[in-house]
Amino acid sequence: MWSEEELKYFEQLILKRREEILRNLRHFEEHTLFSSVRDQTGDIADVPDQGTDTLEQEKTVQIATKEGRYLYHLNEALERIRNGTFGICRKCGGRISKERLEAVPHATLCIKCKMEEEEGSRRR
Ligand SMILES: [Zn+2]
Repeated sequence: MWSEEELKYFEQLILKRREEILRNLRHFEEHTLFSSVRDQTGDIADVPDQGTDTLEQEKTVQIATKEGRYLYHLNEALERIRNGTFGICRKCGGRISKERLEAVPHATLCIKCKMEEEEGSRRR
């Protein structure tokens, strides 16, 4: 399994990306959310239209954005570092390569299983 240094390394990598995204989200809020997005629903059309509470709506928009989803995945990855399941393929239980994790730190499938999964979804 991973050494302590390797886990620390990935934790730092994820925290750094998380910070970048948080900055982007703040930028998004300031420049988009409070001006144009409310009227141009094209991008967030799949957000369920429920409740009029503005804070709830803003949260929904955050989660609906690409950054918001990425943030969620990074948080999950941090959780996995803490509970010792980080970097382990959820399908075959094998170790995900370090190169892959450096590119996609929140990956939960090894390359092989990922390719099989994509193959499968294409056939469906
Ligand atoms: Zn696998």
